[in-house]
Amino acid sequence: MKKLQIIGLLVFVLGFLIFSYIPFLGTYQLEKEMVEQKVKPEHTDAMVRILKPMFGIEYDSNFDFLADFNELFKEYNYDLKVRQDWDQVIWDDYAFILTKSASQGDVQETPLLFLGGSILVAVIGALIYILPLYKDEPEGIKNNGIYFSSMKSRGVLGIMTGAYLILFYVILYWFPEYMTNLVLMLDPVSKAISGNEASQWFLYGFIYTLAILVMGIRMFRKYKGNTYQTLRTGSVMFFQLAFAFLLPEILILLNMPWHDFKNIWPLDYSFFYDYRIDGMLSSGALGMFMLVWGIILIVLGVPVLTYIYGKRWYCSWVCGCGGLAETLGDPYRQLSDKSLKAWKIERYMIHGVLVFAVLMTLVTIVNYFMEFGLLGQATDQLHSIYGFAIGSAFAGVIGTGFYPFMGNRVWCRFGCPLAAYLGLVQRFKSRFRITTNGGQCISCGNCSTYCEMGIDVRWYAQRGQNIVRSSCVGCGICSAVCPRGVLKLENGEEEGRINEMPILIGNKSVSVKS
Ligand code: SF4
Ligand code: SF4
Repeated sequence: MKKLQIIGLLVFVLGFLIFSYIPFLGTYQLEKEMVEQKVKPEHTDAMVRILKPMFGIEYDSNFDFLADFNELFKEYNYDLKVRQDWDQVIWDDYAFILTKSASQGDVQETPLLFLGGSILVAVIGALIYILPLYKDEPEGIKNNGIYFSSMKSRGVLGIMTGAYLILFYVILYWFPEYMTNLVLMLDPVSKAISGNEASQWFLYGFIYTLAILVMGIRMFRKYKGNTYQTLRTGSVMFFQLAFAFLLPEILILLNMPWHDFKNIWPLDYSFFYDYRIDGMLSSGALGMFMLVWGIILIVLGVPVLTYIYGKRWYCSWVCGCGGLAETLGDPYRQLSDKSLKAWKIERYMIHGVLVFAVLMTLVTIVNYFMEFGLLGQATDQLHSIYGFAIGSAFAGVIGTGFYPFMGNRVWCRFGCPLAAYLGLVQRFKSRFRITTNGGQCISCGNCSTYCEMGIDVRWYAQRGQNIVRSSCVGCGICSAVCPRGVLKLENGEEEGRINEMPILIGNKSVSVKS
């Protein structure tokens, strides 16, 4: 490693450590005016009464502050629940918003300084490390020593990274009140884009987008000379920055509902929820366009584009989850399980999630049109279960937190219902296939090793058989790492796509199965 890269690494670690320390800074002091400002009008009186003992007290840490807050709040709700006085129970969670308001100290006073000192420093360090990568080296993908790397091969560094990611996601989804300082430092950025204060989701979107951009630059370095990889990486970087991050914030600025135009149901599982439909229907022509566009993508976009290009058009070129997997997750692609057992589990799980999402949506739509006469508020329970188990735990905590343990496409492979839908089209009605020139294959296994979807590509290559698998996201890495040019991603005539006459390389001979 060059000296400059070591410096870059150290700068990155410094920024990362500062970022991790920021939540522990500052003091917290709640005032009556804050509650009156931040709480819904119908809860103001009750919340002022509940939190009165905390007013004016300065807490040294958010742990102490939240301990008192939770105790008072739970006590109030507990009594009402015991009395079954359900109308008076406060179901809204005000912990995050009030902790953020109560936050005092340097981060609150100079947010940009902390933003620069943590995230910006980490980004600069990462770039100093990444930009000289493979400089003065010939084109060609180098994975030298990957199985001896502690970070990339489930060593101590990998385990620590995974544990950190899991912890981050758990706090983000279920305990965001413990990261209010991190959100606070992004307030100026959020206000500049959308005019609103930052939420934990803005923080997440900001870090997510930066991760794709910075690690996308790493992809350019690592796969230099490979046009497909360069274009594909550029595409996911663009869609994340423009469509997933900036455009929805600009919509907020225009008083429109937050909307990601490239997110498709059932990945966007809340698309048909009543509040989303109502939001779109009440937002004029643009809102109507969001609704129609979303439905067009589901019924026409997915089948037609997948027919022409395979599911890669979305999973490897557009999707945000795929974008993160293909950039931040690239160092971990070799950790995917290639066993038949994993393939079997994958099929049960991903199609199970698809069935769950479809049923939940059908019930939601029927209930909506019957004005909740069919199942009342039962759909809320379904939404909560799906949101918790699939939307948060699976897609977030496991989907990203498990990169260093199970590879970069855990969610896309085992859980994403949209991937399942795209996969069904790809398997049964598509022009996409990976062709194999079996006679050239030297069985090195590079292709299988670096297939993030756990496809045993070599098995097909050895037989000269086209690869037509519903899970293949068309990332093209198998083809890129093949030293013999055996594999080619193609869109062609449907006829002969599913290859029925493979070359069989057996112990005794090479034969053509007829
Ligand atoms: S088979 Fe090749 S193109 Fe398909 S997911 Fe695996 S590595 Fe990517
Ligand atoms: S990387 Fe190429 S040569 Fe190696 S096993 Fe795969 S298809 Fe065969």
